Amino acid sequence: MGKTTPRNSKWMRTYNRSLILRLIRLHQPVSRVELAKATNLTKPTISNIVNELKEEGLVNERELGVSSGGRRPIMLELAASDRFVIGIDATQRKLHGVVTNIHGELLDEAWHDERFDTNEEFIDAIVTLYIQLAGKTSGDVIGLGVSVHGMVEAGAGVVLFAPRFHLHDIPLKRELEARLKQHVFVENDVRTLALGELYFGEAIGIDEFFYVYAGYGIGGAYVHGGELIDGEHHIAGEIGHMRIMLEGPICSCGNRGCLEAVAGERAILNEARELYDLTLDGMRDAVGTNPDVQKLYERAGEYVGIATLNMIHLLNPSRILLGGPLFNYAPQVVTNIQERVAQTALTMDARQTDIRVVPWNANHGALGAAALITNQLFGEIQ
Ligand SMILES: [Zn+2]
Repeated sequence: MGKTTPRNSKWMRTYNRSLILRLIRLHQPVSRVELAKATNLTKPTISNIVNELKEEGLVNERELGVSSGGRRPIMLELAASDRFVIGIDATQRKLHGVVTNIHGELLDEAWHDERFDTNEEFIDAIVTLYIQLAGKTSGDVIGLGVSVHGMVEAGAGVVLFAPRFHLHDIPLKRELEARLKQHVFVENDVRTLALGELYFGEAIGIDEFFYVYAGYGIGGAYVHGGELIDGEHHIAGEIGHMRIMLEGPICSCGNRGCLEAVAGERAILNEARELYDLTLDGMRDAVGTNPDVQKLYERAGEYVGIATLNMIHLLNPSRILLGGPLFNYAPQVVTNIQERVAQTALTMDARQTDIRVVPWNANHGALGAAALITNQLFGEIQ
């Protein structure tokens, strides 16, 4: 034993490279000495990797650090000026795309809303939007991330089922890579939202949390060890289809009484429409002023609270992030969830689980899609 095969050493090198990029991203500006201390890697190893990252234009050097008398140490930071990432949010019929730098800063955006009815037309729409976005950059695009609602086999980049579009079995990664000559990664929308928080949002610097999305639909994602947990059959974290009511309404998945069917905004809207003539936007506006609508949201919040408590007991995450319109249009829902957990979680420590709302805006979907590429850059170990 103890042999180092070429494959092992390549793996180790990829691992060290990801680790160093991650540390620079989290702690920049940072010196080589600090990197060596944080990683226990030798100085020559650090230097080799840093040189490689500099050559690839990913890392810059500058003189900045304070020094005790001697010369100022050279600090390292991410270079973001001429590397771009494109993210496309394909969760609604109107596709939304963004250009970001590798820090995830939004630089430009565009939309595409021509109708698509077949897999080919859907792929054409993404290609058109990508070309439009790439035309807005002044340097290299290093990859395209696409987030799609529904069931996605992320490794193969195949959309198994996108119910909102009535499309299934779309070989998105293969087709887009062939046409765009670009690295393409495809993921489920809620999972990309969680990645976005890991890289640019409320989970920077922590590598373990559970993300609950609640809007028209409900979904979840579990990040552990800085990676999205996929599960054997790609459904880990699907809190929206946790069955929560024995004889509840029928869900989009065909089962009865799923959390989404009971507490998603589609379910709330169905109930609200028995009382008032409302659109989804109209209902969201009415939460603050109409006690009937407010009650419906609060009841939905109770169910989401129960499901969240179940996830705490199942996974015991250090942080819960609540993202999506339900939490932002009805802030009292968040208070209900926090109180439920604070009063009824199994142990005193679990009762203090850090539960926070992700401030919601319409860019989150596409920024999360861009994070799929950042994830490859900083996180992938293979
Ligand atoms: Zn369901």
